[in-house]
Amino acid sequence: MAPNTSVEICYLCGKPIDSLRSGDHVPPKQLFAKEIRKSHSLDLLKIPTHSNCNRSYQLDEEYFIHTFVPFAMNTASGRALLNQIVSQYHNGRNVPLNQKVLKEFARKPSGLILPRNKVVKRFDGERVWRVVWKITRGLFFRDNNGRVLPENTPRLFKIIDIGEAPPPPEFQLLVNKEERGRYPGIFAYKSMTLEKMPNFHFWAMLFWDSVMVLIYFHDPACQCETCLAT
Ligand SMILES: [Zn+2]
Ligand SMILES: [Zn+2]
Repeated sequence: MAPNTSVEICYLCGKPIDSLRSGDHVPPKQLFAKEIRKSHSLDLLKIPTHSNCNRSYQLDEEYFIHTFVPFAMNTASGRALLNQIVSQYHNGRNVPLNQKVLKEFARKPSGLILPRNKVVKRFDGERVWRVVWKITRGLFFRDNNGRVLPENTPRLFKIIDIGEAPPPPEFQLLVNKEERGRYPGIFAYKSMTLEKMPNFHFWAMLFWDSVMVLIYFHDPACQCETCLAT
């Protein structure tokens, strides 16, 4: 479907925005600690969506920051957000969510800390990847002149444990690509398509300079023989 400039399209559901409209922050505003939002006048990217489409991600976005920010204690942006979450918890906010996340830390007889001060932690992949995919789709929409990347596009995600296992070899392809993002200390991303497979996208996102995820997908508008045959 060709992008139509006269009608606003919701990048989440692909339908015209004819009802309640909201400005969706890409990436989610919650990645930025309130303290940082107050002390700097941030110019965050906003993309219009239906209010309902946007709202359906809110709890998963909350979960995302709660489950990953403990890995960002060594950066100022991560620490500010973690402090905020901890003080909100002490004030009775998101108590069940915080308890759920605390349980995700693996229990070891000696406590939580593993060799090299690393902690093993599980996370709910379905919720985390739903958020990562939403960010991907928002940026794709912005970078491709308002073309919707369908929710059901086949994709693959990987999480990289920075400073631990080396990233997969394909990560080298991204090293020299331009880092993008208005506030790269909080959120940065790189993207590329492969020369021999121009519709295969390979992206990396970095949260709080600490948590990295890789995203792989094939552009569904691809006209290659394989795609046309399926
Ligand atoms: Zn929508
Ligand atoms: Zn193709």
